[in-house]
Amino acid sequence: LPEGFALTAESLSQKVILVTGAGDGIGKVAATTFARCGATVILAGRTLGKLEQVYDNIESAGHPQAALFPINFEHAVEQDYDALCNALFDTFGRLDGILHNAADLGERTPISNYSLGAWQRCMQVNVNAPFMLTRALLPLLEKSPSASVLFTSSSVAFNGRAYWGGYAASKAAQENLMQTLADEHEGISRIRFNSINPGGTRTRMRAKAYPAEDPTSIKAPDALMPAYVYLLGDQSAGTSGVSFQYRA
Ligand code: NDP
Repeated sequence: LPEGFALTAESLSQKVILVTGAGDGIGKVAATTFARCGATVILAGRTLGKLEQVYDNIESAGHPQAALFPINFEHAVEQDYDALCNALFDTFGRLDGILHNAADLGERTPISNYSLGAWQRCMQVNVNAPFMLTRALLPLLEKSPSASVLFTSSSVAFNGRAYWGGYAASKAAQENLMQTLADEHEGISRIRFNSINPGGTRTRMRAKAYPAEDPTSIKAPDALMPAYVYLLGDQSAGTSGVSFQYRA
C-alpha cells in the first residue's frame, strides 16, 4: 500500500461495486467496508437471509443503500448473468468494480479419492461463474470512468498441494483468467484486472479447512480491507494483471 493510505468515507464514493459471496466471511466484511467508504454495493450470494442481514447493517449505519442479488453460482446459467446485467444497467447504467470472492472449498482428500461432483462444483463456482459473470458485465464496466475487477486467489493457486484437488486447480485457472483479461484490455480500456491472495483469514471456510487451528491465531477479515479498498478504488488505477499477496 502507498505510504499514508487510509480508508475514508470517500475512498469509494460514487462507485457501484458488486461483491460475490457477500453474506459471510471476507465478502461480508468487504461489502460493509466498501459501503462505509461510500460505495453502492450489490450484494450477490446464495443465502438470502445472510445477504439481508448485510443489507440491513449497511442501511442502519446510514451508508449508501445496497442492492440484493441472490444467486447460486453452482447452478446459475447465462440467462441469470444476463438478468443481472440488465438489472444493473436499468438501475445504475454502469458498474465500477467486481470483487470475485465467493468460492467452493471442495473436498480435502487425495485425487485418487476425489469425487467428480466436488471437482465439478469447484470449477463451476470458482472458475466458470467468475468467467460468465465478468463476460456478462464487461459492457457495464466499459461505461465506468475507471473500473476494477479483483479476483480472490490462494497460495494453492501458485503451487498445487496435496489434498486441495479441485479448489487448487480452480484457483490456478482463475488466476490465469485474470491475466488473460488484463492482457486483452491493456491499453484499450479503462478496466483493470488483478487478484489478491488474502492468506489465512478467520472465516468459516478457513475453520473447515483447518479444524485444529486456533481461530484467534489468524487475522480477521478487517485486516485485509485497506488492501481491498485500495485495489477497488481509483488510487490503484493503472495497475492491471498483478497477483497481490496479502502481507501483514
Ligand atoms: P466463507 O466460506 O466464509 O464465505 C464464502 C462466501 O461465498 C459465503 O458467503 C458463501 O455463501 C459464498 N458462496 C459459496 N458458494 C457459493 C455459491 N455456490 N453461490 C453463491 N455464493 C457462494 O469463505 P472466506 O470468506 O474464507 O473466503 C472468501 C474468499 O477468500 C474465497 O474466494 C476463498 O477461496 C478465499 N480465500 C480465503 C482464505 C481464508 O483463509 N479464509 C485464504 C485464501 C483464500 P453462504 O454464506 O451462503 O455459504
